[in-house]
Amino acid sequence: MTGIRAGRGQSARPPDEVASARSTDLAGPSAAAGPAWDYAPAPESREIASIAAEYGLFIGGEFGPAADGRQFPTINPATEQPLARVALAGVADTDRAVAAARHAYEQVWAPMPGAERAKYLYRIARILQERAREFAVLESLDNGKPIKESRDVDVPLAAAHFFYHAGWADKLEYAGLGGASGAGGADGAGRGTAPRPLGVAGQVIPWNFPLLMAAWKLAPALATGNTCVLKPAETTPLTALLLAEVCQQADLPPGVVNVLTGAGETGSALVSHPGVNKIAFTGSTEVGKEISRAVAGTGKRLTLELGGKAANVVFDDAPVDQAVEGIVNGIFFNQGHVCCAGSRLLVQESVADIVVERLKERLATLRLGDPLDKNTDIGAINSREQLDKISALSAAGEAEGAQRWSPPCRLPERGYWFPPTLFTGVSQSYRIAREEIFGPVLSVLTFRTPEEAVTKANNTPYGLSAGVWTEKGSRILWMAQRLRAGVVWANTYNRFDPASPFGGYRESGFGREGGRHGLAAYLDA
Ligand code: NDP
Repeated sequence: MTGIRAGRGQSARPPDEVASARSTDLAGPSAAAGPAWDYAPAPESREIASIAAEYGLFIGGEFGPAADGRQFPTINPATEQPLARVALAGVADTDRAVAAARHAYEQVWAPMPGAERAKYLYRIARILQERAREFAVLESLDNGKPIKESRDVDVPLAAAHFFYHAGWADKLEYAGLGGASGAGGADGAGRGTAPRPLGVAGQVIPWNFPLLMAAWKLAPALATGNTCVLKPAETTPLTALLLAEVCQQADLPPGVVNVLTGAGETGSALVSHPGVNKIAFTGSTEVGKEISRAVAGTGKRLTLELGGKAANVVFDDAPVDQAVEGIVNGIFFNQGHVCCAGSRLLVQESVADIVVERLKERLATLRLGDPLDKNTDIGAINSREQLDKISALSAAGEAEGAQRWSPPCRLPERGYWFPPTLFTGVSQSYRIAREEIFGPVLSVLTFRTPEEAVTKANNTPYGLSAGVWTEKGSRILWMAQRLRAGVVWANTYNRFDPASPFGGYRESGFGREGGRHGLAAYLDA
């Protein structure tokens, strides 16, 4: 393992010491007083994913260079080594992709019976499963996330989304969504009028779950008869391009899925393209607002899945060890690069000390390092820019008066790394309690009564998710009714299922992805 295991049971070191101890040497302070045994390295082979030197845009079923020949590099954030050069789509390429999608929509995909469309989605799902290892390795290389997460979460869930939506493709008239004339007009068997697709969908996705977000966007759009132009994030284009290859392998008709790689301007060109009927965006609230402004008055349909600042609420009757696992999963999964991350821990005052103590013990066992090592819990931060943002917000937390703690932890010399960090003594007004950090940083606040927990949990402009830990079912329901969040998990966290709608309120966006509600976002109802 090239990375470093955070030492176990050590006393805290100040963060500046953590930051200055950047080394790949396993023998450090943590090793000196650490456990009697250590994990052997368990690296997944990098060779499983063959990476080309250059990648083109995927338009009309074929890969090709950008019209003006521009490219940008994509790097491995764990090593800062370049992985490949990728075509940078400009306005001319966007025109071509939208035209290809329009042609495919009118000539092939929308007229095709749902049962036939379903076969292509099933095929894509099965190929994703067959090539799962390759996808997992590529995702970890390009994104920096631990292989155990890309292997056990991202790739299986992406396949599950295609399977689930394949099942809907020939049953849309039973979804209760109706077409313009079908709303409310179901027959005795529950069948309404088949709802109509919208047309060409422009889909812009972020870097935190590159393949999974592509699946969340493409699968429902395709199942409902739309064609797609997908814009992956600049820092993580490779698995979307491999998915494009899978579309070729599945004989998906040319133009049904197009992939435009590039930066923010490419996304902006796609969003404002007059040939697009629907925009689906996942990313920051700031860019989401920009997109809302660009789309206003154009008649384009819009769904926005934006940021969050979720409260994970632990009551005094919760089983502490189980809650601690849920807290860790809630904020340290995927380095905290999760829109629904439980970044604010609200813990009942009477159990705050024991919960924080157990949490620190647990954090000291997390292993940070090589994303391709199967033992790694915390991988690399996706980019220098994101690392700077996490560092700046953490520094602001300290400056405002919160107490910062990280387990003893040496960080690899190369790459972008941030130790698991928690802040106690956090006041609601601090930036670390209000702003989305999008990193492995937890802010701990306390409450005395359920009413206070609700007030504090809802004291945010966001409203994407929340967690509740208690043994009382009645309290779970009481909380769920009052928390202003699109998803409320009870005695668990970060559970995703393609059948379950996901989305937010207020500054977390609008529209749902997944389930029957997610289909509605791609249908003219
Ligand atoms: P962005 O919102 O900038 O990126 C999301 C996607 O939108 C990317 O594909 C991006 O392209 C694209 N994009 C950027 N600008 C525009 C535009 N004007 N019009 C259309 N598309 C655009 O997120 P960042 O990657 O910059 O991350 C910034 C912060 O956003 C993070 O620190 C985090 O707090 C938050 N975030 C939240 C996410 C969530 O799921 N809630 C996901 C990602 C980030 P490109 O990558 O090339 O810039």
